[in-house]
Amino acid sequence: MQRVNKMKTLESPRLFLGLIGISIVFLLGIALSIFFLDSIWSILSIFLFALLIFASIAIFGIAVGLKKREPLQILQKPAEVMMNLLYPVAMFLGALVLRIDKDKIRRSFISVHNRLAQSKQIKVKVEEILVLLPHCLQWSECNIKITNDVMHCKMCGKCKVGELVTLKKEKGFHLAVATGGTLARKIVKDIRPKAIIGVACERDLVSGIQDVRNFYVIGVTNERPNGPCYNTSLDLEKVREALRKISS
Ligand code: SF4
Repeated sequence: MQRVNKMKTLESPRLFLGLIGISIVFLLGIALSIFFLDSIWSILSIFLFALLIFASIAIFGIAVGLKKREPLQILQKPAEVMMNLLYPVAMFLGALVLRIDKDKIRRSFISVHNRLAQSKQIKVKVEEILVLLPHCLQWSECNIKITNDVMHCKMCGKCKVGELVTLKKEKGFHLAVATGGTLARKIVKDIRPKAIIGVACERDLVSGIQDVRNFYVIGVTNERPNGPCYNTSLDLEKVREALRKISS
């Protein structure tokens, strides 16, 4: 189990970037077919063609930059926009056509996203950081309502919430628990953090990252020894590491 979890945290950006490359080739094929088959739609295909060439340059530049650990800042925004735009195509080709595990693709996406975010080398005060937790991290038999205020936690040791409360008291960041996307958005709106460390499963992290594009977000995947959405866990060191990287 230990080995599996470790592997899960270390997904390479190469998988997602490779799928984006395949997606661009796939869409270029479609654009060319439209261009030669139907003159009415040729304007659209030229537009798609230009967009894909632009995407190729941005993604290729970012891939080379990530390898050298110095992605070109000028390419970051276009690459992020293109990554999010092409994400459904990459997921379709990767999961349905190439039969790659969806969570593996999502972890690779999160890995690319985190590396791009961290390469901006933005540092914020620790009290401007929000650590956002999923409700499934709370022990299922705990009756304490921590979604209103996580400080209600009695730190009984039955789940990781207690350890995170201790870490919050030590460091001073905001800590909140969300039961879903709507509450998560409300928490972010209320606190207005300068950076968010989001803890969730791969699927929720990807949608969360795409949901709050204007925020500086670092994604941390949870652990699910009891299956999805039930008594999940977390490697606290991953949160500490994210805090070290983004706090001044
Ligand atoms: S650590 Fe806190 S949230 Fe978790 S079971 Fe104990 S009291 Fe409940």
